[in-house]
Amino acid sequence: MNSNSQSTSPLQLATATQFIKGVGPARAEQLLRLGLRTARDLLFFLPRDYEHPAPRTRIADLKENLPASFVATVTEIDQITTKAGKSILGVLVEDDSGAARMMFFNQPYRLDSLPRGLRVLVSGKPRLAGMRMELVHPKVIPLEAEELPGKQAILPVYPLTDGVNQSNMRRAIAAVVDELADEIAEVIPEPIRQSASLVSIQDAMRNIHQPEDQTALDAARRRLIFQELFILQLALALRRRKLTSDLRSPPLPVDAAIDARILKRFPFELTGDQKKAFAEVSADMARQFPMNRLVQGDVGSGKTVIAQYAMLLAVANKHQAVLMAPTEVLARQHFETFRKSLSRSRVRLGLLTGTLSTLDRRDVLKAAADGEIDLLVGTQALLNDKVVFKQLGLVVIDEQHKFGVSQRANLRRGGLDPHYLVLSATPIPRTVAMAAFGDLDVTTLKEKPPGRSQVHTYLAKDDWAQRWWDFLAQRVREGRQAFVVAPRVDSAEQEDVSSAQQIFDELRTGPLKSFRIGLLHGRMSPEEKNDTMTRFAQGRLQVLVATTVIEVGIDVPNATVMTILGANRFGLAQLHQLRGRVWRGSHPGYVCVFTDKEGLPEDDERLNTFASTSDGFALAEADYRMRGPGDLLGVRQSGMPPLRVADPLRDTEILEAARDLAMEIVDNDPHLEDPSLALLKQRVLTRYGNSLDLGDVA
Ligand code: ADP
Ligand code: MG
Repeated sequence: MNSNSQSTSPLQLATATQFIKGVGPARAEQLLRLGLRTARDLLFFLPRDYEHPAPRTRIADLKENLPASFVATVTEIDQITTKAGKSILGVLVEDDSGAARMMFFNQPYRLDSLPRGLRVLVSGKPRLAGMRMELVHPKVIPLEAEELPGKQAILPVYPLTDGVNQSNMRRAIAAVVDELADEIAEVIPEPIRQSASLVSIQDAMRNIHQPEDQTALDAARRRLIFQELFILQLALALRRRKLTSDLRSPPLPVDAAIDARILKRFPFELTGDQKKAFAEVSADMARQFPMNRLVQGDVGSGKTVIAQYAMLLAVANKHQAVLMAPTEVLARQHFETFRKSLSRSRVRLGLLTGTLSTLDRRDVLKAAADGEIDLLVGTQALLNDKVVFKQLGLVVIDEQHKFGVSQRANLRRGGLDPHYLVLSATPIPRTVAMAAFGDLDVTTLKEKPPGRSQVHTYLAKDDWAQRWWDFLAQRVREGRQAFVVAPRVDSAEQEDVSSAQQIFDELRTGPLKSFRIGLLHGRMSPEEKNDTMTRFAQGRLQVLVATTVIEVGIDVPNATVMTILGANRFGLAQLHQLRGRVWRGSHPGYVCVFTDKEGLPEDDERLNTFASTSDGFALAEADYRMRGPGDLLGVRQSGMPPLRVADPLRDTEILEAARDLAMEIVDNDPHLEDPSLALLKQRVLTRYGNSLDLGDVA
């Protein structure tokens, strides 16, 4: 291939990177490692940060302790090695006003990057050393011979890869920006830009790479963040619109008599948040289009009651309701809860899980189809079995974060569409919920049921094992029960990971041998699992050693002590879910955390955060901050593309503005038919059409 003939033709967005000025085939190969194939890719490869050089000055004008930057040339290099083997590098730099010295301690590798004659932009805090100003570990940016940093106050900092340094990257991208920024299509129509005070996309692209000044950079970032969130919010608004206006559901209203009859079933006083949730749910269910409501609340906030209320409301209106749980253990627990509270009522219950015999399954399926089951509880088996209902009014999905959106869609079929209620125990910060679940209505339970005791969380110290088992044994002797959780079933593959099997063997022959102790993990047969869980729930087992199969939903209020082994392998949300298992009854809960790695749990930032608060919402925020905005929509587990520039926790105002505008636009123009919105609509569909199932909007 003849690259010379190509390099003279004008640069286009689709031009391969190797033909960009100063790139060439070898570097193009390296850029490929960053996923950069074309000029367009480079254009949209955004800085991860910016260098803000201190005020520019001349060496002669440097003032002690006043941060400053200057352009100079390396003239002398001096490296000494101390007796202790440490390197000290002194580099003299000069401009036409004088000379200054840069000092680097223990950075011998600097030697190679600072050859004599190199022009550099130096910034740091000078101090007077003898007759000269000296800068210890200043920031040094090498400049190309012809480069004039004077024009550029703020420098972009790009992610790099082996063989491509910052200066290479800046030059390649600058070449593209200069020639192509004006080619980018503007998708946001002028009037919207005006009303939201947004700069044009061309301005934004130029200034995001080569900021004229801080104000221009801020405006550029705002524009790009807005665009990303706006497109997302339009997608969510379209989906919401589709769910509410294209679909028909049976109205399932509540009245005072029904309300009283349902409330009678709960053996306790409801919390204010639960009552509010009932009101929201029953208002939704009274309408003739589907409810799409997410109930989120911290572990133990009493979400099951909301599901129960909604399901009984459906039954009171002569419709069927189905509840889907992510595990068989949890499905059975819900079934038992319903069975107890409905013991003297005419409501007919069914349970459908993967372990039913073929015969039983056939019976359940037939009863659901004939309308002889009012409330059906089950697992994913509900989806696989293609259950047909006589008159389905409501679908409840518990622990929604364990399912994907597409699975939700599978339950919708035929006739009128059921109402949807999804429960999530992973609290989501408000703005994140707005970004991830803007198509759903969100109810938040913050209040804990009254009488809930404290939970204490300890990070194990070095010699704690024996002390902790003694403490646990003491609680068990007092009548409580305990969980011991390990990250793996067995250690066959990885010896350095705590395993449930191993600790089970150790405990029942050692520290806990006088107790009835059981083992529960995902490799056991469903029958064994059920049996073990039932025995624990009934108090016949005192200690349960388990993997994270017990993570979600398990409700055994008498269990108050939890040991978490290998805690470094669990995420923050997961740890909090686990802790929720021993924070249910009126006795205080105790959690102790051990790790499998060198060092103490208290050295681990995540574990410290975990121990420092038991507020699920605070933890969720900390978790999102640690994982970064790219993962924010991971909560949705639906294959939605991650956000690239926006961060819902940080960009709250932009998010709210983008959402309001998106809702207004979709209200006025439900299918985005206005020709001025054509490009925008196309972007929305390309990005979210599949994951949000917006097909027929197009
Ligand atoms: P989660 O929100 O984690 O799913 P659950 O619905 O399992 O919580 O409820 C946790 C425990 O609190 C259960 O034992 C439940 O019976 C109890 N509970 C729920 N609501 C109340 C209430 N208003 N008063 C007292 N206990 C309640
Ligand atoms: Mg629950």
